[in-house]
Amino acid sequence: MKIPFNKPFLTGKELEYIQDAVALGKLSGNGKYTKFCQSFFQEKYGFKKCLLTSSCTDALEMCAILANIGPGDEVILPSFTFVSTANAFLLRGAKLVFADSRTDHPGIDEQSLEGLITDKTKAIVVVHYAGVSCDMKQIMELANRHGLIVVEDAAQAIDGYYNYDGVMRPLGSIGHLGAFSFHETKNIISGEGGMLAINDDRFLERSEIIWEKGTNRSSFFRGEVDKYGWVDIGSSFLPSEVVSAFLFAQLENMKSIQDKRKKVWNMYHENIQDRPEVFTKPNIPAYSTNNAHLYYLIAKSGEVRDLLISKMAENGIHSVFHYLSLHKSPLAQANRWSQPHLPMSDSYSDRLVRLPLFYDLKEEEILHIINTINSIEL
Ligand SMILES: *Cc1c(COP(=O)(O)O)cnc(C)c1O
Repeated sequence: MKIPFNKPFLTGKELEYIQDAVALGKLSGNGKYTKFCQSFFQEKYGFKKCLLTSSCTDALEMCAILANIGPGDEVILPSFTFVSTANAFLLRGAKLVFADSRTDHPGIDEQSLEGLITDKTKAIVVVHYAGVSCDMKQIMELANRHGLIVVEDAAQAIDGYYNYDGVMRPLGSIGHLGAFSFHETKNIISGEGGMLAINDDRFLERSEIIWEKGTNRSSFFRGEVDKYGWVDIGSSFLPSEVVSAFLFAQLENMKSIQDKRKKVWNMYHENIQDRPEVFTKPNIPAYSTNNAHLYYLIAKSGEVRDLLISKMAENGIHSVFHYLSLHKSPLAQANRWSQPHLPMSDSYSDRLVRLPLFYDLKEEEILHIINTINSIEL
């Protein structure tokens, strides 16, 4: 049995919608399927405004521009994350201030944030790791007290919710801005793809301009201005209609995709034996839902993690680990960034292992993975 780590799921409608987009003869961005997808997200999750982008990386870069980040500004973000969370703000000249992860979950330790705020801090970027929410109430209250912008890197968090004083609020809708990914490794995909959710009025108008290369082209097409011109900085952040058509096919099947992923996740969680001397299973804080983006184990040590990965490999199972703490990256070292002590981030870097989780994973394959893990001996 050979089990890959990931296999992109196709709903079967992708080519039909792409064909339709091609037949319509408008292949650049902001056409029928872009609008379909944006409306879908706005209606389902109550985002004030959505703009599809070519990636979550693009959406995060838009966030950095919208937040007016410039040299001298400090941005707080977790060290345990993907490089794009950091690059977007570094590109604008920000000083990155790395925060640690929680002890019970790889998400940012909200208790550590206040001590990192200075009079130069402009934004806090949180990452909903594995689609599990950070403690957004604490983070929003802290940010509001200090007048900071909150960006949710919700790349992994589509269809995840946070219990905010008894109200289940969609991830990506709580901070001022939210960034999503539709990369082929995520729950909902378009190959490469992403989306910016804008939840704060002050960013509504400018977001559209930055999206369209710094021009007011969108308001021109709505007939609000009689010509369009260059009014701000920006870039080409919008995807083509081919990509949006693909994405729309996925959105129509969102429920079955999510249900299937949760089924796989629960099978792992219920059938992998608790073996605290070898690993611990994921913990989901009471305030968060589980969108089944990924299933991971936290091994007892780095050596045990390597053993788990090699035992799985011997049994045809491809498992992987991530992330290497950004504050210890070659880039951080080359630039002599300060080296904060972030033991939890380092610990997850050393000990976390991810199991295969995708729609087409068969029951016998899941059982093979579970049996392999349950039979590992130290
Ligand atoms: C996947 C991911 C990204 C990048 O998404 P792209 O769409 O590939 O640019 C950013 N942040 C996190 C936390 C991710 O998991």
